[in-house]
Amino acid sequence: MASRRMIDPGFWKSKAVAGCTPFERLLYLGMVSLADDQGRMLCHPAAIRSCLFPYDDIPLDDMARAIQSLYGRGFILIYDADGRPALQVVDWWDWQRPRWARPSRFAAPEGWQDRICFCAGTKVTRINWPVSADTIWRQIRRAIFKRDSHTCRYCGARAQHVDHIVPRSQGGSDELDNLVASCARCNLSKGGRTPEQAGMELI
Ligand SMILES: [Zn+2]
Repeated sequence: MASRRMIDPGFWKSKAVAGCTPFERLLYLGMVSLADDQGRMLCHPAAIRSCLFPYDDIPLDDMARAIQSLYGRGFILIYDADGRPALQVVDWWDWQRPRWARPSRFAAPEGWQDRICFCAGTKVTRINWPVSADTIWRQIRRAIFKRDSHTCRYCGARAQHVDHIVPRSQGGSDELDNLVASCARCNLSKGGRTPEQAGMELI
């Protein structure tokens, strides 16, 4: 079962779309929704027709022509995946931002790089997976808590927060030397002030 996919509003106005017939546009969007997590699927006109247009009497020749047209316009890549005809949605990673992406059942086209991130049991496998800002921040927090032994650097209580010594609102950075572990009470009372402004001192 394919995951839900994203369609960027910019698709409708992109130059590449201008030369496509409305049917080709619909077919392309259908491919995006059917493709696996790597933007790949079997390139078989009858199979695609049965998935996307089960209620329409579309001649197979029309399907094949439209698929070839999308290939000719660079929307998809048609290639041989270990003896099976496969297609790759070319702009896949420009549009899709999935949380997880499992490996494809089809071999990748020549020179293509897959992005893989999936969870099996408690093990997360990531290959060529871009790291999000959230992930980086989680890593920073972990490093700060470890460095400061989970202790508030203002009062010595158990720390649950990471405080910006110079707040972001005053131009403070996310560099480790501008960050300290802090307890909820100190974090709240300091607010958007520097320690000097708040009358607090670092231990
Ligand atoms: Zn504290």
